[in-house]
Amino acid sequence: MDYFLSEEQVMIRDLARQIAEDKIMPVRAELDEKKEFPWDIMKDLAQSDFFGLFIPEEYGGLGKGCLELSIAVEELSRGCLGIATTYAANALGTFPILLYGSDEQKKKYLPDVASGKRLAAFALTEANAGSDAAGVQTTAKLDSNEYVLNGTKQWITNGGTAEVYTIIAMTDKQKGARGTSAFIVEKGTPGFSFGKEENKMGIRASVTRELIFENCRIPKENIISRKGMGFIIAMKTLDNTRTGVGAQGVGVAQGAFEVATKYATERYQFGQPIISFQAVQHLLADMAIQIEAARALVFAVSRFIDSGVKDFGKESAEAKVFATDVAMKVTVDAVQVMGGSGYMKEYPVEKMMRDAKVLQIYEGTNQIQRNVIGQALIKEAAK
Ligand SMILES: Cc1cc2nc3c(=O)[nH]c(=O)nc-3n(C[C@H](O)[C@H](O)[C@H](O)COP(=O)(O)OP(=O)(O)OC[C@H]3O[C@@H](n4cnc5c(N)ncnc54)[C@H](O)[C@@H]3O)c2cc1C
Repeated sequence: MDYFLSEEQVMIRDLARQIAEDKIMPVRAELDEKKEFPWDIMKDLAQSDFFGLFIPEEYGGLGKGCLELSIAVEELSRGCLGIATTYAANALGTFPILLYGSDEQKKKYLPDVASGKRLAAFALTEANAGSDAAGVQTTAKLDSNEYVLNGTKQWITNGGTAEVYTIIAMTDKQKGARGTSAFIVEKGTPGFSFGKEENKMGIRASVTRELIFENCRIPKENIISRKGMGFIIAMKTLDNTRTGVGAQGVGVAQGAFEVATKYATERYQFGQPIISFQAVQHLLADMAIQIEAARALVFAVSRFIDSGVKDFGKESAEAKVFATDVAMKVTVDAVQVMGGSGYMKEYPVEKMMRDAKVLQIYEGTNQIQRNVIGQALIKEAAK
């Protein structure tokens, strides 16, 4: 369907598609198998200015919005969700600075992120603080001109490969969520190290690792905004990036759909291509409907965010839930269309199915997103 993209948006889409087809697809199975970080592809993305897409021009970026980011993320995810996660998590790590950072912080960090020189990561989750994000136990205590960080963050995408980390830590336990603050911590800071690297079901080209803070001292200027703003910064950041998780869902679903459709035209049983069987056609038809609906919602919410509206938490949660549930269903059905071949590593759909599952879990599970939508509905009903 024509989404009436501008000439520039079509260029972004085509360039991301070309990188996905020429650079990502040929190596995705190997990266997945070896659990290898895609350094070469990060370089390709940097050379094509993809890291600067969402960063304002005054800080070295291209100054584009949520729609352009969604377009790029969808195309990369069609190639490999692990690589797209690495790219998207860099945006997640950058948004706290972009939304709430001081001009000095923006000048110091954004140009390097925009050029792809330094990758970013976002660290909220801990062993005892997953969905209950306000329960973080990592502490940050002010000691003259420095904050001293102690604690462990769990399952952080780009952990170890990123150079710039935005961290949510507790500065006043008595105040709960209002007692959290956000900080920038650079790789190499004494007292900051990396722990266990996870061995995952899917998105294996993406690194997921522990961050360990042991009396890690950072300048007090590294606080983002002010004390007590951590939870708000985290929630607003996630509002801005969740539509991108939806775009990841659209991309991986599209990739699986294309492989399954091609296979269905080439595989013969009972003397005819399996696509001639109505049961197979209906599976493919449902996949096509769901992908188009998911893309339409992701693009509509992206445009809504780009319009400058202030509150879009409900809409970005809707896009995330719908498109990622579609991704799970479509990738499972793609395997079904392909029968035993879909289950084998000769074809990419088994990887896509393994990869898709995480989309229903990270950046807030789909149950939590439904809670967010439900709370918004209660507010709307009370108006
Ligand atoms: C591969 C991967 C990469 C990740 N990358 C990052 C990252 O870069 N940065 C980061 O900070 N975090 C990251 N995470 C963490 C991720 O955001 C959390 O896993 C997620 O928020 C859920 O937390 P949890 O896993 O602890 O699940 P839990 O909170 O323990 O939830 C378990 C189950 O209970 C349900 N549940 C919990 N509370 C409720 C409730 N109130 N209502 C209804 N259902 C509920 C959940 O929906 C889920 O089904 C990553 C996770 C993974 C798997």
